Amino acid sequence: MEHLQNCVDGRLVAPVAGRYIENFDPSTGRCYSMVPDSDESDLERAIAAAEAAFPPWSATPVEERARLLDDIAIRIEAKLDELARAETVDNGKPLSLARAVDIPRASSNFRFFAHASTQFASESHNMGARAINYTLRDPVGVVACISPWNLPLYLFSWKIAPALAVGNCVVAKPSEVTPMTAYLLAKIGIDAGLPPGVLNVLQGRGPKIGAALTAHPKVKAISFTGGTRTGAEIARIAAPQFKKLSLEMGGKNPTVVFADCDYPRALDTVLRSAFTNQGQICLSGSRILIERPLYQRLRDDLVNRTKTLKVGDPLDDDTQQGAVVSANHRDKILSYIQIAREEGGTILTGGDSVLVPGRCKDGYFVEPTVIEGLAQTCRTNQEEIFGPVVTLQAFDSEDQALELANATDYGLAASIWSQDVRRCHRVAQRLESGVVWINTWLLRDLRTPFGGMKNSGVGREGGLEALRFFTEPKNVCIDLAD
Ligand code: NDP
Repeated sequence: MEHLQNCVDGRLVAPVAGRYIENFDPSTGRCYSMVPDSDESDLERAIAAAEAAFPPWSATPVEERARLLDDIAIRIEAKLDELARAETVDNGKPLSLARAVDIPRASSNFRFFAHASTQFASESHNMGARAINYTLRDPVGVVACISPWNLPLYLFSWKIAPALAVGNCVVAKPSEVTPMTAYLLAKIGIDAGLPPGVLNVLQGRGPKIGAALTAHPKVKAISFTGGTRTGAEIARIAAPQFKKLSLEMGGKNPTVVFADCDYPRALDTVLRSAFTNQGQICLSGSRILIERPLYQRLRDDLVNRTKTLKVGDPLDDDTQQGAVVSANHRDKILSYIQIAREEGGTILTGGDSVLVPGRCKDGYFVEPTVIEGLAQTCRTNQEEIFGPVVTLQAFDSEDQALELANATDYGLAASIWSQDVRRCHRVAQRLESGVVWINTWLLRDLRTPFGGMKNSGVGREGGLEALRFFTEPKNVCIDLAD
């Protein structure tokens, strides 16, 4: 069985204590590789390597750093098949999705931030004859990048690329549930010629190596994507040490559908936003709010379309719904469906696990599930399920739609469906949400600010926001008076 390795100081190495964790293929339920269970000895080595690498890396001309990151992007593209298959086996997502979205986006992340860093400029504030101010933006130093399991390489690279591009050295920790593509990326970084210590990857458990990384005094900034509870724990440890923090956390995102929408397009996209990646996307539209005149039609069509989604072996070309990421997560999703029943919800379709015969008979599959009849205040409509489960609610006015949409502790993403552009804009302005899509979903431009408000996040990633996060602004004022 393959034993994955950490990447420390430019080399792939076994964990110092020699301990490993089992890694499962969620589509078969079988352990297929072993993941380093890293601890503080591994961390000390990684931090020492990153610290030693920082002075030369931060002094490397930006064009050279960009060339190396661009080379990583090219290598990811060249390994599309290998990486997509690895992601699918590790995570359970359909291979078609990993090929079309996860891996191309990981490559785009490196390419985008390689180029963005060469265009990154800072401000100057002119005080006329009296003085001039200019802002230096220097890299922060050693930074931590901690990412979740739902879009493993996509989100891992979304943090690492901007951090490296502006001259930081990284100690990164992927989720122990999906370690494989982070391991493969570490190899790609070595092959591309990243100087030793610039990118270190430590595998292992969140509460152990993740917590130790967060607490380490040499780590100056932490970019985290994951659950809100974990984000709160990281903030609790990091805040008294005054580390820079970017927290991208959970969502309970509303999809607001008005009766005047472009119906066929809305139906297709609402279905996609509900169930892509088995609903395990922080941006998934899990609360579908429908203007009453359209309610019955959209409900019936959505339920019929949901029933046609093929749940099956993620490696099969025609599979639309793969496995959910782990047995624990499957059980969590099913327990939420049970809560929905107890809260008085009606399961219109789905509601159970799925037995996929043959190779995948012991895999973790859940039926795509649509529920109606629940109040906005109930747990099903308040808590993030992070699985293929959506609820439907009717509304009678724009104000009521907004009241329902904003009535959670989360504020990550929302989508609005209407052909009335004035209304779309009005609603977008009043939504408590870091990202709003109008007549679309998951259309991403990497230059835009990305992140959530309320319990969904602190700070923004994307474009210049990420480059700003990973640099420390310093104002320099020159007195020009005679
Ligand atoms: P977790 O919060 O459990 O884990 C995220 C990462 O943090 C993992 O690498 C995890 O390691 C690590 N971790 C866990 N505990 C600690 C700790 N005490 N200190 C430091 N690191 C720790 O989230 P999930 O992996 O379950 O991911 C799902 C969540 O991520 C959902 O809530 C989802 O909404 C959110 N998410 C948010 C996005 C956004 O952009 N806002 C995008 C995608 C997902 P390990 O897994 O090994 O325990």
